[in-house]
Order: sequence, then C-alpha cells, then structure tokens
Amino acid sequence: THTYGPFVGAMHNALLRGPDRIALIDEDGPLTYAGLDRHSNALARAWASCGLGSESTVAALCRDHRGLVVSMLAAGKIGARLVLLNTGFAGPQLAGVVSRERVNAVVYDAEFQTVLAALPDSVSRYLAWEDDGDPVDSAIPRLKDLIAEHPCGRVKPPRSPGGFVLLTSGTTGTPKGAPRNHTSVLASAQFLDRIPLREGGTTYMAAPIFHGTGLSQFVLSLALGCTVIMDRRFDAARAVAQVARYRADTLILVPTMLQRIVDLGPAVLAKHDTSTLRIIFAAGSALSPDLCRRTAQAFGDVLYNLYGSTEVAVATVATPAELRSAPGTAGRPPVACRVALYDTDGQAITKPNATGRIFVKSGLSFTGYTDGRRKEVIDGMLSSGDVGHFDDNGLLFVDGREDDMIVSGGENVYPLEVENLLADHDDVLDAAVIGVPDSEFGHRLRAFVVRAPGATVDTEVITDYVKGNLARYKAPREVIFIDELPRNATGKVLRRELEAWKR
Ligand code: ATP
Repeated sequence: THTYGPFVGAMHNALLRGPDRIALIDEDGPLTYAGLDRHSNALARAWASCGLGSESTVAALCRDHRGLVVSMLAAGKIGARLVLLNTGFAGPQLAGVVSRERVNAVVYDAEFQTVLAALPDSVSRYLAWEDDGDPVDSAIPRLKDLIAEHPCGRVKPPRSPGGFVLLTSGTTGTPKGAPRNHTSVLASAQFLDRIPLREGGTTYMAAPIFHGTGLSQFVLSLALGCTVIMDRRFDAARAVAQVARYRADTLILVPTMLQRIVDLGPAVLAKHDTSTLRIIFAAGSALSPDLCRRTAQAFGDVLYNLYGSTEVAVATVATPAELRSAPGTAGRPPVACRVALYDTDGQAITKPNATGRIFVKSGLSFTGYTDGRRKEVIDGMLSSGDVGHFDDNGLLFVDGREDDMIVSGGENVYPLEVENLLADHDDVLDAAVIGVPDSEFGHRLRAFVVRAPGATVDTEVITDYVKGNLARYKAPREVIFIDELPRNATGKVLRRELEAWKR
C-alpha cells in the first residue's frame, strides 16, 4: 500500500519497476509510467492551488485517453473523490448525477460541451484533452496547459485517499452511484486465479474506462505494468488493426463490441495478424452461445466471460474451456467470491438446473449507493437483480434480469433465452424481446429483429423457429424488423426505448 492509496500506488509500483515502460498509447502516441507520474503530479499541484483537495469531488466526462487517466491519478494524489460519468448519459441525467454527488469540478472532452451547459456555474470546468475539430471555450482551462505550467515534483500525500464513484448503467432507472474506495478498486482484480493476465503485457482497451468493466481492467493493467492501447471511440476494424499493430495479448470489451468484430467476417479478420492474442475478456452484458462459438472460430480458445456488476465487480468467470463445453456460461466464482441462488422466500436453492435469484459475495464490500439506498442481502450476500441456474457441472448460467421477466398467459419468460436463440439464427444479426400489455395474456412478447445483410426472414419464420426450439408460449406474437437496436455506451439494449417504440 502506497501513501496515496492503492490505486495511485499501483501505478507507482509499475513506475519503480520500469519508469521507461510505456503505460499507455493513445491518439497522442506513447506515454511512459514516468510521464504519467509527472503529468499527474503537475495536475495535482494545479488543482490543489485552485483549492481542490480531500474534501472535493471531481467528475470526469471523458472518452478513453491520457486526459482521463491523468485526471484519475491527480484526483488520487490530492485525495479528491472522482466520479466517472458515463459518456452516453443525456444532459438532464448528467446534471442530476452532478448535483447528487456534489461535484465541485468537472473534467470533460470538448465534444460534451453542450451536454454540460446545464450544470450550475459553481462547478469548475476543465477541458480534458483537445479533440481536433471541436469548438472550445478559450476561457476554460485545459489540462494540457495546467500540466505544462505546473512543477511536476512529488505531491504531498493526502490525509486519506478519495476513491471513486462508479455509476450503474441506468438500465433499470436513474443511474445509481456505487462508491469504490481505492482498496476496492484493486480488489476488483479478484479474478486473477481464473484469467492468466501477465506482467508487462499489452492490452487493447475497447471497453470504456468509466464503466466497471473497463475500470477494473485498467487498474489491473497499471498494477501489472502493462501497456494499454486506447481509442476514443470503438470501431471494430480499427480495434483488430490496433491489436495486430501493437501485438496485443489481451483485448478488453463488452459483448456488443465482440459481436461487431466477429461480424467483420473471416476475409477482413484474415488481413490482420492477431495471433498474439491470448485473452479476449468480455464483460458487462450477456454473451450469447452463438457469439462464443463464432469467437472461437475466429480467434481460437481465448475468450473469457466475466459476469459481474458495478456493485460487486466480479461474480464469476468462464474460461475458454468452459465456454467450449458450455457456450454462454458465466462460469464459476473466483476463489475470492461466492455465488448462491435463493428463491423468492429467501430459501437457498442447491439443486442443479433449478432457477433462482442470484446472490453474490465478492471481495468488494459494497455498503450502499451514494443516495443511501441499499441492495437486498441474504446470508451476507448481495442481490444481483438477476436470475440464473447452475448446470450439472456447477457452471452458472445467467437467465436474465428479474425486472425483465415477462409473465405471458401465466408463464414466465426471460427475454434473454429467446434473444440468444434468435441470435443463433443465420438470418438474424441482432434481437431483443420485450413484453407489451395484452388484454388476453397479461403481456405478449414483442421481438425486435435486425436481419443479417441480404436476409429476408419474416415473422412466420421467426415465430416457428422459436416454437420449434423452445416453447409455444416463448414465441413472440409480434416481430418488428428494425435496422439497429438502441444500445448504451456499454452495449446494453435500451429496453425502455423499445417499450416506447411507435410504428
Ligand atoms: P442499473 O443498476 O442502473 O439498472 P445495470 O445493472 O445494467 O444498471 P451494471 O452494473 O453496469 O448496471 O450491470 C450489471 C448487470 O449486467 C448484471 O446484473 C447483469 O444483469 C448484466 N451482466 C453483466 N455481465 C454479464 C454477463 N457476463 N452475462 C450476463 N449478464 C451480465
């Protein structure tokens, strides 16, 4: 443990082992661990001279680039709390979070200037890093200039490290603030017994750092002295090209990104040498069995599926061997975690293949959201809000979210099961299923389907396919063909937008 707290300490350990190692490569080129340290010292001094310190909260609304990373470290060095804002949130959502979290200063990318217009003047603004082509207000201090103007010597450690506030995805309502102290940020690396990450490797970071998936991986990469390659925006072809160019051994992403990469097709993928990849790490939403198989065909046995949440970080991990024998499984808990199923009366479910509510005990101690709300706890384990089952071999399958369950004609349907089946159909590129009120059945299933290029599949084919493979009552009564599903920045389907969909 370092005097600045474990998060900044993670970077310092890497710095001591190799100051000239490249910590990150972004659009501005490489930055060494020593450079990261100097930049964050200078920024910490600049912020301290503006009155920010252990009592302050800094928020970042940034894509992945050195400006975000330097801000995270500088906030750690002055002991300020850092709120990682989701770049996909709309103006009112952001304003709500900024006021709830009592943010004093916000660091942002120029492209979000208008989204932030609604913030009160009392919130200081800093421009994270210039993004060519975007108009910027010259009165707003730029991190680049602050860093150039301030001395970069060691900063006096704060009395206590400030920690992070991560935001949930807002899938089920307003995004909740989940605090993570600096220790728990490192504790989120509790899956190392299941994923063979190596010291000094090269990681292509496709998942955004502001989300739990990205943050855990990023901090771990720093602690291991790795080089992290990052881009502001995800582009499937670029991601593959970057992996090949930098001979990356690890790729961190959410399933939607992986889907887009695999959809590039064998001819495009063959143009890039990705043979250095040892780990493709998918997390943040469900991985369909079809995607597991297609990833193995394209890249070999390198895919790991991590199931977790903002509150617990990690619950389970599936290894390539487990995904080969049971495509789509979420795997098993790492040694530091425990997962159990309970029924709605709070009774433990131990039989294989029986569905129950998933509860998790991870190495993280989540004691509640920043607004005071808590999660249900049974036997010291936290509710995940998901339901699932263990198969005969003890592998966990996440069946869906409790809130997404559709009761149709008295039968329970989890959309994820139908969505996974639809994704398996050659003529279907993407699919989501929701329940809509129905006078006869209570709810009926409505599927939104994105056809594969050139496919002409129709409603009848879709419903017959589901009836033939699952059950009659799981077949959608309506199928709507659309060009693309609405998804958030981490690839989750925005079901509320689908519910509001009008013909
Ligand atoms: P909110 O709590 O605001 O509604 P959210 O729960 O979507 O948002 P996150 O913490 O980002 O916020 O997401 C965690 C959820 O994502 C899990 O509870 C689960 O439903 C889903 N999830 C994450 N990883 C996986 C996975 N590997 N397989 C299946 N589902 C996953």
